[in-house]
Amino acid sequence: MTPTDLYIGGRWLPAASGRRIEVVDPATGDTIASVAAGDVDEGLAAVAAAHDAGPAWAATPPRARAEILRRAFDLMTARGEEIADLIVAENGKSKADALGEVAYAAEFFRWYSEEAVRIDGDLRTAPAGGNKILVLRQPVGVAVLVTPWNFPAAMATRKIGPALAAGCTVVLKPASETPLTALLVAEILAEAGVPDGVVNVVVAERSGPVVSAMLHDRRVAKLSFTGSTEVGRILLREAADTVVSCAMELGGNAPFVVFADADLDAAIEGALIAKMRGGGQACTAANRFYVESSIADDFAARLTAALADQETVLISAGARDRVDALVADSGTVLTGGAIPAGPGFAYPATVLTDVPADAPILRQEIFGPVAPIVRFDSEAEVVAAANDTEYGLAAYVYTGDLARGLRVGEQLDFGMVALNRGLVSDPAAPFGGVKQSGIGREGGHDGLLEFLETKYIATCW
Ligand code: NAD
Repeated sequence: MTPTDLYIGGRWLPAASGRRIEVVDPATGDTIASVAAGDVDEGLAAVAAAHDAGPAWAATPPRARAEILRRAFDLMTARGEEIADLIVAENGKSKADALGEVAYAAEFFRWYSEEAVRIDGDLRTAPAGGNKILVLRQPVGVAVLVTPWNFPAAMATRKIGPALAAGCTVVLKPASETPLTALLVAEILAEAGVPDGVVNVVVAERSGPVVSAMLHDRRVAKLSFTGSTEVGRILLREAADTVVSCAMELGGNAPFVVFADADLDAAIEGALIAKMRGGGQACTAANRFYVESSIADDFAARLTAALADQETVLISAGARDRVDALVADSGTVLTGGAIPAGPGFAYPATVLTDVPADAPILRQEIFGPVAPIVRFDSEAEVVAAANDTEYGLAAYVYTGDLARGLRVGEQLDFGMVALNRGLVSDPAAPFGGVKQSGIGREGGHDGLLEFLETKYIATCW
């Protein structure tokens, strides 16, 4: 049975208020479960539990922390089917996407089990000679982790893995649309040997007050947030009051650039991955397709053929209606573009051409299976158009000219560039954005550093 209560200090607890949040299957619109809805007191109780567990966990040998994380990887992998089914049920993505997510999510535990024993420091002789500069890396302390619904497993493990490797304790506040997966991850971590209080999970009906109270508690040292830029801005303001260190993974508006010299089959294959993973509801989703004029019609025809009759399930009726409104008046519809009849929140894969340069669909994060195509004629023109956004998370470039690919990659104002690939995510790579797409990095060695504080000891001998 998947747990449905709050997880605080190693105990599963119902909400004191008795309130519960209904979890809906987006494919049918039916309620599939209800979970305890925590409030401010429970958020603070979780902070207290994490704070109390902190010193012992920080003092646990790195090898022991590593082995617990490695066991969590094994358990998650062994239970992959079950976790994927849960993701499908509460998020609506396809089973293939859900299995891909579980493998990706589990890998953060394996990667950070390997990182836990590689936390380094630094020792130098001061330039003036004599004194020494000794640099230690210590766990930051209690971390509040806030995650979105689009990757219910991976967004949690991408934070919990490095936090635990670094010796931090955490309170996870998952999205209320997809709390079941997060609660199952907590159960798996407990089974792997994570001590009571090291990982706590509080689902909330009113996320604002609960997260705000936690951020104003002086025992909290870190906020790691993944979600929309809009909510990210609110939390940066909240965190300012207590000067809590923030790692922010926010929204994106990824350009997908195809030059005429690209391998078109590979570009279409990459476009399908970059656009359709999770029904287009990924922060890295290709949002704007810029295709060199001489191949634009061919590209549009091939993409349309590949996507015709494909349907995806979006997270809610509101999300689906928002996508549909963005499609309206945004150019010529080659396929899709209308809400299908039937239950649930389905939307068809949609291809648009002749998209006006000022169309809102090119400015906003679509978060749906819609591919607007825009023509371009020169490298300089497309770089300028791609960079003309307040976002800077991921960008895609297809070209047969490696020098051009690298040159354009260097000029793109994005934290990640996929060159002749439709996927950037990799647990071993630093994931993150520039501009209003975020602050900091997750994954790789950089992801560990987010949960470590640098201490300098001046000494001499
Ligand atoms: P969201 O910002 O609405 O919610 C994210 C989380 O914040 C949820 O847990 C939500 O309950 C919580 N939240 C909402 N309002 C809050 C408030 N006032 N105070 C505290 N917490 C609050 O985002 P979403 O709709 O769940 O997810 C989609 C967004 O996430 C997209 O913009 C997407 O690009 C972004 N995203 C970014 C990355 C990345 O790594 N950069 C990854 C996945 C998703």
